[in-house]
Amino acid sequence: MKTPITIFWFRRDLRLEDNAGLYHALNNVTPVLALFIFDKNILDKLSEDDARVTFIFQTIESLKKELQQYGSDLLVKYGTPEKIWPQILKDYKVEEVYTNHDYEPYARERDDNLAEFLTSEEIAFRTFKDQVIFEKDEILKGDKTPYTVFTPYYKQWQAKLDDFYFKAYPTKKYFKNLFQTEHLVLPSLKEMGFKASSQEFPKINYKNKLDDYAEQRDFPAMESTTRIGLHLRFGTVSIRKAVKDAVEAKSNVWLSELAWREFYMMILWHFPYAAYDSFKKQYDKIKWRNNETEFKAWCEGNTGYPIVDAGMRQLNETGFMHNRVRMVVASFLSKHLLIDWRWGENYFAEKLLDYEMASNVGGWQWAAGSGNDAAPYFRVFNPELQTKRFDPKFEYIKKWVPEYGTKKYAQPIVEHTFARERVLKVFKEALS
Ligand code: FAD
Repeated sequence: MKTPITIFWFRRDLRLEDNAGLYHALNNVTPVLALFIFDKNILDKLSEDDARVTFIFQTIESLKKELQQYGSDLLVKYGTPEKIWPQILKDYKVEEVYTNHDYEPYARERDDNLAEFLTSEEIAFRTFKDQVIFEKDEILKGDKTPYTVFTPYYKQWQAKLDDFYFKAYPTKKYFKNLFQTEHLVLPSLKEMGFKASSQEFPKINYKNKLDDYAEQRDFPAMESTTRIGLHLRFGTVSIRKAVKDAVEAKSNVWLSELAWREFYMMILWHFPYAAYDSFKKQYDKIKWRNNETEFKAWCEGNTGYPIVDAGMRQLNETGFMHNRVRMVVASFLSKHLLIDWRWGENYFAEKLLDYEMASNVGGWQWAAGSGNDAAPYFRVFNPELQTKRFDPKFEYIKKWVPEYGTKKYAQPIVEHTFARERVLKVFKEALS
């Protein structure tokens, strides 16, 4: 006779402590077996040396070890969820399935399909808010429609925030309810078609950055941002803990950045079309030049604009780019070069360790002017002025573009004043 169990399915919440769905699962009567699926639908689109897969793999290895200490284990599968789930129901007597909400279009479809399948098998499917403080319809305008502008959204977000919302879920107390099992196999990276990456991943040590964050965050050479993005993306840190730490450190600017993340997730939830189309639809009438040679020069950091090139090279070498520079390179691609923001969005999606669909699409549409809360299109970033303000001693530039200032450095790919006039003309034509 098989023991009836509850399954908790990990996705982008890869931690045992303070995990909403896991906590609720453990509070159930039936013992809990945790599951992770290396999803072929997602993995098949990635290159074999994608460092994020190594990060996930290492995290899964440590989750397995932790669970084994409690006599349980992590069930790890490789395949598509639609094929894996029927197989799990054959192998185990599953009574209920618990998981945390995921707001991206693919994830919504996946979870809707699973809900339908589990219902047909008479298995309960319970899902919880975990990766944000406020989700979906929790922050709405007076007329019950979603905010599309950050400032009033954030006002309400802050007004609603109290200790209740960032209290940790005490999962540990209930680990005795984990399903006891022998050790289960872990498919290797090689079997899944990936190479182990030697990329260094940022550690979770953001607290020492919070005091000076407001003054220093805009200067890329200072490396004073927290690098928590990757951990929030995969849930190796709890958003409740991050928000609590921000409140305790009175780091209001950092707190507002965490709210930007939620704002974009809320936007993606309400306007899923904006993942692929311009939020302001008339922006899809723009006649992009989409010159492939220029796109390549941008990707490789050879535009002759040192701040742009430094950013792209930082991205290519480390999987990270400073926020201020992300804005500059995104504006440069979409405005100076008149290349469709989706090309840049895709390139970032391939390269960023902290890639997160809602924030990436939000950031790109903001820079291109097509987004919900974007600067007006006629505001075109001037890379030289940005350098003067944010890298006045050229420290960041010299770190990433060592040949800057020598004859070896590329000539500007396009002249600034010419490019500015050209984009204003093309945007005006499309938008009038
Ligand atoms: P910190 O400055 O220490 O901030 C802490 C956290 O707050 C970040 O990790 C992130 O979760 C959140 N945050 C900060 N700024 C923003 C913002 N403007 N919008 C949304 N959330 C924010 N962020 C991503 O997490 N993933 C992306 O794919 C992404 N793509 C971007 C693309 C463009 C074109 C632009 C302009 C911005 C993008 N951002 C993205 C936002 C921001 O650049 C990064 O979150 C930040 O640089 C990550 O560094 P950090 O972890 O040191 O952040």
